[in-house]
Amino acid sequence: MEDRDGWIWMDGQWLPWRDAKVHAMTHTLHYGLGCFEGIRAYATADGPAVFRLDDHVERLFDSAHILGLEMPFDRGALRSACCEAISRNGLASGYIRPLVFLGAEKAGIDPAGAAVHVMVAAWVMNAYLGDKGMEQGIRVKVASFARHHVNVQMCRAKSVSTYTNSILACREARAEGYDEALLLDTDGFVAEGPGENVFVVKRGVIWEPEITSALDGITRRTIHALAQEAGYEIRARRITRDELYVADEVFFTGTAAEITPVVEVDRRRVGSGQPGVMTRELQQRFFAAVRGEDRRHAEWLTRVG
Ligand code: PMP
Repeated sequence: MEDRDGWIWMDGQWLPWRDAKVHAMTHTLHYGLGCFEGIRAYATADGPAVFRLDDHVERLFDSAHILGLEMPFDRGALRSACCEAISRNGLASGYIRPLVFLGAEKAGIDPAGAAVHVMVAAWVMNAYLGDKGMEQGIRVKVASFARHHVNVQMCRAKSVSTYTNSILACREARAEGYDEALLLDTDGFVAEGPGENVFVVKRGVIWEPEITSALDGITRRTIHALAQEAGYEIRARRITRDELYVADEVFFTGTAAEITPVVEVDRRRVGSGQPGVMTRELQQRFFAAVRGEDRRHAEWLTRVG
């Protein structure tokens, strides 16, 4: 990723992609205190537009607040940097990555004295779990690692360090030939994917886990709105692992994963073994909204440039 043309916003300045470097003593590199966002911009008839930019910037500021990181820029500066990361890099669509991290001003666990730095990069991203996964669904394995307890890693924050747990689960699943992992919480109930929220359809009702040990996903909130418009009932409760096995449909949601059908869990076929009807319907509504084809959701789109 480091040797390419392009621009990265670092602490208020646009640097050539290859020059956007940090020092080896960067605090976040050693101890993992930091937070970030994953945002997508989509090609629309009016040019590239960032999807739910305000919500993502708000969550970034919430994450920083939870972690006790004082943001050195305001929301407006972050919103502009995200939009310009798309236009300046000449992207028709893409993935935007703002990251808040502590610098190399200070060593040791206590970060007092380390400065808060912010960067924003953007690059092309296709279907995160592959085009085949998006169309035909993915195979998922319940991870041997539990998702963080609410009092271990605060899950309202999109923290850098949460992703150690995600990586362990994801690597385990892929080593065993699955497409993706699914994590249970420390009580053994369904939490989320390594980078996705999860939904379960049973007898026409869409269920999701309470988000105690999961991120409050923005795609998840989008699904709430779209499901309501489609006339689907959507509710939250604790969900057990075996409920996934006997579900009619299961799907993942996320900025990167978008709406990805899950057709197998732990070698058990889910429903018919094909993406379900409700999953398909929500996928269609989602892509219409992000591409600006559904005017009801024009407020979710911020035009770039
Ligand atoms: N959970 C985790 C752990 C994630 O990393 C993500 C991706 N940001 C999600 C859920 C989905 O969140 P969103 O829809 O806001 O991308």
